[in-house]
Amino acid sequence: AHVIAVLNQKGGSGKTTIATNLAHALKLADAKVLLVDSDPQGSARDWNEANGGQLLPVVGLDRETLATDLKAIMGGYDFVVIDGAPQVARLAAAAVKSADVVLIPVQPSPYDIWAAADLVEVIKARQEITNGKPAAAFLISRAIKNTKLSGEVAEALEGYGFPILAHGTTQRVIYPTSAASGQTVFSEPGNTAIEEIEAIAKDVLELLP
Ligand code: ADP
Ligand code: MG
Repeated sequence: AHVIAVLNQKGGSGKTTIATNLAHALKLADAKVLLVDSDPQGSARDWNEANGGQLLPVVGLDRETLATDLKAIMGGYDFVVIDGAPQVARLAAAAVKSADVVLIPVQPSPYDIWAAADLVEVIKARQEITNGKPAAAFLISRAIKNTKLSGEVAEALEGYGFPILAHGTTQRVIYPTSAASGQTVFSEPGNTAIEEIEAIAKDVLELLP
């Protein structure tokens, strides 16, 4: 299975939103997808309960043994999507170890970008001992529609040396409202947020080794 980890120690950066929607997009493209909740707060598990466990298999792995635990259960899946915990130490390091691709959702604000520094270091340290695995990219989350990423924000991100995914999410009510009933943007056919998520999924597949 390809392992995609959505990580950022900053709470509210959009990890659970991206993880659930991306996992669902991959499933709708006929892949077998496992969603791993590595956040002790259990947001993805709450989301799964809200839909009665109907949408995706969701498993909670919020221990440091995540990497080994995951190996034992990921057979038979095409993709594993890890919803990250709001911390860098241990849990995120374990997720980085398991991942083929790390997506780092950041809101287009300097505070969010600065807060990613520790995670970037963890990923780079891992890449050094593994010949570049995992691949990593920033994903701009909750951007204001029709607003270009400011030069300052882009520059701050580029300073980390990871690419910025060509597509991200914009601020849309459908993200929280669909999540409230344990759904994703795909529950409302024709919604333009679907296009955002599908474009993100396509970008992510291109990052896979
Ligand atoms: P994290 O998992 O990183 O803490 P969440 O995915 O839970 O972040 O997002 C934080 C809050 O922002 C949630 O209430 C979520 O519904 C909302 N949110 C996330 N992405 C968007 C978006 N693109 N548009 C509107 N609200 C969003
Ligand atoms: Mg979350």
